[in-house]
Amino acid sequence: MESISPRTTILSVVIPMFNEAAVIPALVARLRPVLDALGVDYEVVAVDDGSRDDTVSVLFDHGRAWPQLRVLRLRRNSGHQAALTAGLHRAVGQWVVSLDADLQDPPETIAEMLRVAREDGVDVVYGVRADRSTDTVFKRNTARGYYWAMRRLVGVDLPAQAGDFRLLSRDVIEVLRRLPERAPVYRLLVPSLGFPSAEVRYDREARAAGETKYPLRRMVALAWESTANFSAAPLRLATWMGMSSFLLCLALIVFGMVVHVSGATIPGWTSMFVAVLLLSGVQLVCLGLLGEYVGRIYATVQNRPAFHIGFDSRDGVPGAETGAGAHVGDKVVGLRG
Ligand code: UDP
Ligand code: MG
Repeated sequence: MESISPRTTILSVVIPMFNEAAVIPALVARLRPVLDALGVDYEVVAVDDGSRDDTVSVLFDHGRAWPQLRVLRLRRNSGHQAALTAGLHRAVGQWVVSLDADLQDPPETIAEMLRVAREDGVDVVYGVRADRSTDTVFKRNTARGYYWAMRRLVGVDLPAQAGDFRLLSRDVIEVLRRLPERAPVYRLLVPSLGFPSAEVRYDREARAAGETKYPLRRMVALAWESTANFSAAPLRLATWMGMSSFLLCLALIVFGMVVHVSGATIPGWTSMFVAVLLLSGVQLVCLGLLGEYVGRIYATVQNRPAFHIGFDSRDGVPGAETGAGAHVGDKVVGLRG
């Protein structure tokens, strides 16, 4: 679309969407006035993450009346972070805001983020949830646990309660595009880059329509992804378990010797049984942990794209891009997203 020019676009708003047809009308109705009022050239990059409902056709319907709405379609459901990656890599704006489709993060905050970024000269502005009372108790507590654990485990200075609603400068985007990471977890990755940052507080609202796309299964996956991506702590845990069971064995050996010397022969069945179970248990856990990391190394070496872009409405012809994944220059960066 001619109205979106890489040279003059100041702001890109990237919105991953998975089965969000129900919420799009409300989203457009609220987002558009905010962006129009900014008085700068902008684009909205709606990334359809392989939705199975009418998300794409609803987007196209709205796109007819809103030339700044650009639709990026992934060939299949690749997950929130992968969809975000696709959008961030394709966005052309000098500033890029990532936003959820469900209006839990109020679009009005975007104006403030942009203002703070320009006035304070920072590269990152985090949206920090001041009030999560509209989230369920379960969600609030799992979220609190997640941020607590990540701060300890990952060691980066993680802004509390900062989700994926944030503004990034072009410099940050370029750094992110070059990272060879398979499945980046942006809420940890961005703070770890150490760009100057600021925070904008907002109240998290209730989902405008549709239902959450983050069932427990995906939340657990995100937590594990975050941990394994950022630290080898689980591997150290394996070492610790191995060491302590080794010490336990040493004690048992001493005990065995004492019993042997004192001549009191014990039946020995129970102790054998327990020791074998304990040791094989520890060994299996350690093997599993090793396997997780080996799997990661394998996936990185395979270098498969984390997503395939089916089409980008900015390119005009749907399906024009048949190549895999995102491109940086001429190079297919594959899993790097
Ligand atoms: N999402 C996505 N792909 C997925 C799952 C979710 O693009 O596989 C999008 C979803 O459409 C939404 C955002 O990620 O825009 C956050 O999802 P959701 O609001 O369901 O998560 P919650 O707020 O409940 O944590
Ligand atoms: Mg949500």
